[in-house]
Amino acid sequence: MKDASGPTFQECANLFALPADQYAKLVASHLRLRDKLLEVAKECARCNGTGLITRHFEGNEDKPAWDADDQPCPDCEDIRAALDE
Ligand SMILES: [Zn+2]
Repeated sequence: MKDASGPTFQECANLFALPADQYAKLVASHLRLRDKLLEVAKECARCNGTGLITRHFEGNEDKPAWDADDQPCPDCEDIRAALDE
């Protein structure tokens, strides 16, 4: 289970001071949580799962060209930041 770019599974388990089976459970749990967070981010109602919104500024309602496109969605921005780490 070793590739050129990283430590072996057992070396990772050793870093957490866990037996391999418990480390495997920790990794599996992490991956399930990550999948769930990805699912939540993709289902964000505010940005339709894109992560980006168009921000309208008060007083510029009749000037859509002045809107700020592709702004981070405030509803799922934190989730996406956590997934990028
Ligand atoms: Zn969103």
